[in-house]
Amino acid sequence: VSVQELVNESLKRIEATDGKVQAFLNVDAEGAQKSAARLDQQLAEGGERGLLFGLPAGIKDNIVTEGLKTTCASRFLENYDPIYDATVVQKLRSAESVTIGKLNMDEFAMGGSNENSAFQVTRNPWNLNHVPGGSSGGSAAAVAAGQVYFALGSDTGGSIRQPAAFCGVVGLKPTYGLVSRFGLVAFASSLDQIGPVTKNVEDAAYVLQSIAGYDKMDSTSANVDIPDYVSSLTGDVKGMKIGVPKEYLGEGIDPQVKQSIMDALKVYEGLGAVWEEVSLPHTEYAVAAYYILASSEASSNLARYDGVRYGVRTENANNLLELYTKSRSEGFGPEVKRRIMLGTYALSSGYYDAYYLKAQKVRTLIKQDFDQIFEQYDVILGPTTPTPAFAIGSIINDPLTMYLNDICTIPINLAGLPAISIPCGFTNGLPIGLQLIGKAFDESTVLRAAHAFE
Ligand code: GLN
Repeated sequence: VSVQELVNESLKRIEATDGKVQAFLNVDAEGAQKSAARLDQQLAEGGERGLLFGLPAGIKDNIVTEGLKTTCASRFLENYDPIYDATVVQKLRSAESVTIGKLNMDEFAMGGSNENSAFQVTRNPWNLNHVPGGSSGGSAAAVAAGQVYFALGSDTGGSIRQPAAFCGVVGLKPTYGLVSRFGLVAFASSLDQIGPVTKNVEDAAYVLQSIAGYDKMDSTSANVDIPDYVSSLTGDVKGMKIGVPKEYLGEGIDPQVKQSIMDALKVYEGLGAVWEEVSLPHTEYAVAAYYILASSEASSNLARYDGVRYGVRTENANNLLELYTKSRSEGFGPEVKRRIMLGTYALSSGYYDAYYLKAQKVRTLIKQDFDQIFEQYDVILGPTTPTPAFAIGSIINDPLTMYLNDICTIPINLAGLPAISIPCGFTNGLPIGLQLIGKAFDESTVLRAAHAFE
């Protein structure tokens, strides 16, 4: 098939399904068709094909795209038209995929359900009354609904893996520093990572191959050699040592989710891997530490939205202070305000030691928990989330319950490690996600383990 046919199929599928799913904030049909025509022509002239040649892709709307609005699903950036491409977008262009449009998310990536989007609530394609997860809910829903071949998401505390689990697709959060954050609108800079959302593990390997690598534009970018991820998908996990943290299968886990994880372990046994129960004793402090650290960083990062430089500017300010406060009051939604207040408080003089510094120390303990396990095990396996996708509206007014849902994903961001979520079963017609966690920069082993299970 030609690239133009692929792209038109994607656009048709969006037209047919997105009225219900509402994954897209902005579809760039014209731009996509132009790129498709150019790629077809290039191939006709005997040109080489890039790694992702012709594949229709969706981009989470916190990744900047030149000439294509990037809103972060926030009123504040409703009309923000970036003048440059994120490094990952440049890399996708080199790999020759075709950007179809921008995908919905929780405002500024704060949330786990897409209910915090200022514009629309994306639906779970498996059951339209349920959330797709978040914050990369649009990315996961678009891939699950077959609207695009793959999508990019971002993961600060689970935002790629949790929606992937809820929508029955594959989501990979790379090691912190492996993928450039240049052009990713910052939420919590020490935790944010961009990664692929795909239908299967092989596709995830191809997309990661295309976007990973050192970038001088990101001061936290790691200067490491990028292995051939695709060739690591050998299907062989004989002798692989898997640790299963008892903290991830304890209180609050849905019995069906637990059953699916136990069934998956049987599959691994059958493939010749060995598993043992392990302990990550500081897990219970991870959510508290994360919400202090992520909110602190967010309060600092979001200070740039002052009504002067970006987006919303209030119409009725009489002086500079009013310009700031009214623009921010009008531009940000309730969850973003909650985080800014929490973070500002945690960083304020007199409270810094009790909250921010304490949370940093907990972060170190959590990282050490993982280091110890990885002295003896190749990967860690558990559920991605304690429950399948919840109903829209069911917990949005209970932020603590919402936060506690991230218990299995947050520790991985605090430790900076790579982790993947892959589908491993269903309950009541909703998908269940299995999470595999690896050593820093050992995406190859994570992908190999995930691929062997598929
Ligand atoms: N649900 C988490 C939060 O609300 C994670 C978000 C993310 O990874 N961007 O912060």
